[in-house]
Amino acid sequence: MAFETRFCSNCATPLEWITQAEDSGDVSRLRCPACGFTHWGNPTPVLAAVVENDRGQALLARNALWQEGVFGLITGFMEAGESPETGICREVLEETGLQVKALRLLGSWEFLRMNQVLIAYHVRVAGNPDDVRLSPELLEYRWVTPEAARCWPAGTGYALAHWIRDKGVEPQFGAFRPGQSPEPDPAKWPLRPWSEDARFQLPPTLA
Ligand SMILES: [Zn+2]
Repeated sequence: MAFETRFCSNCATPLEWITQAEDSGDVSRLRCPACGFTHWGNPTPVLAAVVENDRGQALLARNALWQEGVFGLITGFMEAGESPETGICREVLEETGLQVKALRLLGSWEFLRMNQVLIAYHVRVAGNPDDVRLSPELLEYRWVTPEAARCWPAGTGYALAHWIRDKGVEPQFGAFRPGQSPEPDPAKWPLRPWSEDARFQLPPTLA
């Protein structure tokens, strides 16, 4: 079921599309005609991890809601009161039973359809590959090498591509689900490093 916000969360008056002056000019948004509350609809932060074991393999897992053969990264919602780093360590432990021993940021990507922003980490975990204990929301898992891994054209897939590239392997893209396009978004892959300092990326074109 899809949910939409229809009432003011402050005073319960039905929201209306109201145009108001903002920094960027006049903008129409869902606003409350009674108390002035604006429903911004900001994206929800989602955390993701490329979980790597001591053998240099990454963990991919199949969500219980996904069809056979579809595997992705470990993900979860960031909770109120925690940092992104705390959140991803908590999610990895909850969903795989594995303890994070080190982590680094891979990047952040938008997921427009779900109005989410993905914050993705590369995490190293202790233990053996068969120590994984999946949460009920995950059905099965597998460990993949950078050479065998296939990326997909979505935020989590680009995060995986960064992990593969950092291993010195050229990332290969494939469809996430059968029938979907495997082609990466040219704005996101391949990377477009700044000529003066390759740690930087060229900015996107503003609409
Ligand atoms: Zn209100």
